Amino acid sequence: MTRGCVWDRVALQRPIAERLKAAVANGKVAHAYLFVGAPGSGTLQMAQALACALLCDDGGCGACAACAQVWSWTHPDLVRVQPEGTASYLAEQAREIVREASLAPVSGRVRVFVLEDADRLGHSAANTLLKTLEEPTGRVVLILLARSYEAVLPTIVSRCQVVRFAPAPEPEAIALLVERTGATREQARAALAASGGVLARAEALLRSPSALAARTLVFDTLKRLPYLDAYDVLLAARDLLAAVRAPLEDLKAAQAAEVAERQEFLGKQVSTKPLEERHKRELTARERESISTVLGAASSWIRDALVVGAGREDLAANADAADAIEEIAYAMSPAAAVRALEAIEAARQRVSYNVSPQLAIEAMLFDLQEVLKCPR
Ligand SMILES: [Zn+2]
Repeated sequence: MTRGCVWDRVALQRPIAERLKAAVANGKVAHAYLFVGAPGSGTLQMAQALACALLCDDGGCGACAACAQVWSWTHPDLVRVQPEGTASYLAEQAREIVREASLAPVSGRVRVFVLEDADRLGHSAANTLLKTLEEPTGRVVLILLARSYEAVLPTIVSRCQVVRFAPAPEPEAIALLVERTGATREQARAALAASGGVLARAEALLRSPSALAARTLVFDTLKRLPYLDAYDVLLAARDLLAAVRAPLEDLKAAQAAEVAERQEFLGKQVSTKPLEERHKRELTARERESISTVLGAASSWIRDALVVGAGREDLAANADAADAIEEIAYAMSPAAAVRALEAIEAARQRVSYNVSPQLAIEAMLFDLQEVLKCPR
C-alpha cells in the first residue's frame, strides 16, 4: 500500500480532495454525497479517502490500523454496497442499509456507506433509502457513486451534495505511477490502459506479480485464439480464470487467519457467520476487480490494434505486446474491433450481473475468436 496521508492517494483530483479535507477539518461533512465521474476519474478512491479521514483519529494519516482497514474495505464502520439484482439494487438491500445505518458506530465515530452504481437504484430501493438520506443523525455518511448525473433518480440527487469528477489527465497519472511504483513509463501506461484509467487499480496491478501474470496470459490467449479448437478455448478460459483468482490467495489466507483468531478469542460456540459473510462479499468484490483488470487489458490490446492499424503506433499502450498486435492490426477493420470490444464489455456486464465468471469468460473468448479469425 501507498504510504503517506490518504489525501495524497487521490492527488489527481486535488481540488476535490482539498474541499473534502477542509469539510472534515471544519466538521462540515455532508450527510450524503453523490460523486459523479466516468470510470477512471477516481470516485471510489475518493470515497475511501473520505472514509479514512472520517474514521481515522488523525484525519486520514494513511498509516494507522483504521486507515489500513478502510483501504482494504475491512473497517467495521465502512459498508460497501453494489447492486445485487440482475440490473439494479434490490429493495431488500436498501432495507439492510437503513437497518445498518441505525446501528451505533463500532468506532464511536460514524458509519460510512459507499453505494456504487447509484444510477442502478430503482424507485423502490430509492424510496426505502430516502429517509436515511435526508435525516442527518450525524452518525452516518452516505457516499453514492455514479457514472453520470442524469442517470440517477432526481429524488436521490436532490438529497445529496453532488461532486463532479473530471477524468484525470493521462500524463500526470503516468508520472505519479512511475514515482510511486518505480515502473517504467511504458509499464505505467500499459497498467493504466488495463485499469480503465483508474490510478489506484493501475498501481495495484503494477505492485502485484500475479496480476501482471494474468495480464500477460490474456495477451498470450488473444494471440493464440484464432488457432485454438473449441476444447482449447474452454481450457484457455479455465486458465485465465485461475490467473484472475491467483491474486486473491493472499486475501483468502488473511481472512482464514481472522476467523481463526476470532474463534480463539471468543470460543468456538460464538458464530463467525457474519464475519464469513463479510469475507465472502469482500472476495467477490476483489474477484470482480481482478476480472475487470484482465478484461481491461484485453480491451486495451484490441484498441492498440485499432490505432496501429490506423497508423498511430504512438497511441498504442502495450509496448510489450507490440508484435502480436501488429500482426492483427492491418487485417482488422474498425467494425471488427468494435465487435471485439463489445464482446469484452458483454463479459464485464455478465460478471456484474452475477453470471458465473467461467461462463462469462468462455462466451467472450468464443466471440473474440470469431472476430480474430475473420477480422473484417
Ligand atoms: Zn489513520
